[in-house]
Amino acid sequence: MTREAGMVTPGGTIGILGAGQLGRMLALAAAEFGLRIHIFAPESGPAFDVAATTTIAAYEDEAALEAFARAVDVVTYEFENVPGRTADVLVRHAPVRPGPRALAVMQDRLHEKDFVTGLGIPTARYAAVDDLPGLRQALAAVGLPAVLKTRRFGYDGKGQVLLRDATDPEAAWRAVGAVPCILEGFVPFEREVSVVAARSVDGAFAAYDLCANTHRDHILHRTLVPAGVSPRLEQQAIEMARRIAEALDYVGVLAVEMFLGAESGPELVVNEIAPRVHNSGHWTIEGARTSQFAQHIRSVCGWPLGLPERLGRIEMENLIGSDIDGWRRILQEPGASLHLYGKRQARPGRKMGHVTRVFPEGGTAS
Ligand code: AMP
Repeated sequence: MTREAGMVTPGGTIGILGAGQLGRMLALAAAEFGLRIHIFAPESGPAFDVAATTTIAAYEDEAALEAFARAVDVVTYEFENVPGRTADVLVRHAPVRPGPRALAVMQDRLHEKDFVTGLGIPTARYAAVDDLPGLRQALAAVGLPAVLKTRRFGYDGKGQVLLRDATDPEAAWRAVGAVPCILEGFVPFEREVSVVAARSVDGAFAAYDLCANTHRDHILHRTLVPAGVSPRLEQQAIEMARRIAEALDYVGVLAVEMFLGAESGPELVVNEIAPRVHNSGHWTIEGARTSQFAQHIRSVCGWPLGLPERLGRIEMENLIGSDIDGWRRILQEPGASLHLYGKRQARPGRKMGHVTRVFPEGGTAS
């Protein structure tokens, strides 16, 4: 073990649950600090190409989880939808950062909303839905239009249905799979923004500048920084993220996605929180003094945080599905930084890579 009083030292091993591109970029950042990575996932993925050790096992396989936790100095995750029991098993054998409480709160949309509103931070109006009569009651309470979302396992718009006047509640309930849900009032937002921030073991907090995000088919398409909102609102957004992180005694990088309201009502509304590095923070690899991946590694190792300072005006674009066919053109573009995740097949909706462009502050876009 390369661990001193809760601190991982160079030469140590970080265990990561999940084998996707986030794990891959965390592993690359860890390598820069002389740390090794052990990935635990149910199947091979982009992170396997760059990890020293890999375990393929189910998240329910307690013997495999125990062996994994014993072999590493700290456990973190790039994928939050692991069973709650998984974290409970791991925490007996190694520090788990962020801790099991953050995971439990953020992987269930109802717990997450209750937690956020409990801090006095605005969210969309919402109600729990456990069955079809419950959906009808929730519709009466929340009003239309509304979004029905599964409480668990939703991402990139999966497990969601928009309900309008003409929508048949029964059809919506079937469409989400008749599983526990929440119904949220539709927020007529002007812009979607996110705060990507980190908190260290000793409670230091560092946020990147606010990100403005646009989606295509519910999948993040582009992030622009600065987000073009007033300094007052940007500060408010960052304060909300700080309060969320402190209330959870959070360790690591987290992302808080928010809606910037267009009409009367609260100006900033929290949509969801991700207890991990986030797609809207990918620009920090070239665009900030410390990348979100290096920052997460620093946090979970018990190290001091790096400076989140931004180095220019940012455009980050995801390469989704066949967008990856443009890789030659992007390589020819001066100053464009291309990242490919090594996925063999470019299926529609699949995140294949991203490209970041950092412009001098005040300069014009390409
Ligand atoms: P989510 O999976 O909760 O991040 O939702 C995916 C996307 O659906 C968001 O980024 C929004 O564009 C949209 N969306 C989700 N919930 C709402 C809502 N309550 N009001 C308006 N748009 C929403």
